[in-house]
Amino acid sequence: MPRAYLDHNATSPLRGPARAKMLDTLRASGNPSSVHAEGRAARALVEAAREKVAALVGGRARNVIFTSGATEALALALSGRWRGPEGAPPRLLLSATEHVAALEGHGFGESAEILPVDASGVLDLATLHAALAGSQGPVLLCLQAANNETGVLQPVAAVAEKVHAAGGLLVCDAVQAAGRIACTFETTDADMLIVSSHKLGGPLGAGALVLREASLTCERPLIRGGGQERGFRAGTENVAAIAGFGAAAEEAAGHRDDEAALAAALREKLEADLLRLAPTATIFGAKTPRLPNTCAFAIPGLAAETALMAFDLAGVALSSGSACSSGKVRRSHVLAAMGVSDDVARGALRASLGWTTTEADVTAFSVALGDILARIGRKTAV
Ligand code: PLP
Repeated sequence: MPRAYLDHNATSPLRGPARAKMLDTLRASGNPSSVHAEGRAARALVEAAREKVAALVGGRARNVIFTSGATEALALALSGRWRGPEGAPPRLLLSATEHVAALEGHGFGESAEILPVDASGVLDLATLHAALAGSQGPVLLCLQAANNETGVLQPVAAVAEKVHAAGGLLVCDAVQAAGRIACTFETTDADMLIVSSHKLGGPLGAGALVLREASLTCERPLIRGGGQERGFRAGTENVAAIAGFGAAAEEAAGHRDDEAALAAALREKLEADLLRLAPTATIFGAKTPRLPNTCAFAIPGLAAETALMAFDLAGVALSSGSACSSGKVRRSHVLAAMGVSDDVARGALRASLGWTTTEADVTAFSVALGDILARIGRKTAV
């Protein structure tokens, strides 16, 4: 029986054009920094990908800094070494629902300040206003466009306006939003955008920090050496991964609206089935704008760990609200920040749809859920 893969927010399967581009690229043998024909051919592949990633977010190719993924791009953006028109921001503000890769604080470490979100998971603008008003110097604010666990969207452009009025810089983690909804420099007004290849259907292990202005300077980049990526990130480029990333970015951007419409229709069916089978289920963030592909939910009495295994055995790949690298389920800081009780959060599951998702996948989810609920004696309808 074919499996139903509903975990696109973790990794979206490799798109055909990305695979084809990578295979093609693996045949090339040059180092992009070499001046001979082989080197120039490798350079051309990197630069073509740079154009495509720039186009995805409406930026300029020369402002794309390729990294090993969004985690590294966040580490570079939050290194505390960026200088904008008002100087280098001495304070880092983060929303409480940022990805752990941002909450790490990087160059700001323990001094990073966490801003609360409301019960829907949206940044509290009054607290932001107070934090900006009381600031001695410009701030660096890091805000996701869309949350990876719930899909909840943040009012990034409104936040950017406040941050800029206070002389600060905005880093927007666009990992889950880019290629799924309109998420560009124009829509966010961010100073730096973070994107990840494998969330778009590109290969794992590639990402980018994209700067809005070439005038933003980094005083001491994290990885120094051979001066690649205009000195922002040294190291011989992972040409095949970068080329695959570019192809996936082009494909995601080209099909964005169609894929979003299909995901929205399939999610609607999934959520209707979920509430029919488990009328007491909670869908997190349901009352606020969300990505069209994400459904985070909990069913009273159904523990996430047990449910994940049962779905997996039934051929359906879901995710818990939050999984750490060991695969164990841990308490979700996102749901905690939204004021969800531990009891409810313990059951949090996430279905995230994407370019491979079909109606049959959603049906497989519903059938599996019906079986699981019947086994634990909670089935209310078929
Ligand atoms: N930011 C968000 C919102 C994410 O969902 C993820 C990955 O789950 C990351 C950052 C880190 O991305 P990467 O896997 O490319 O390091």
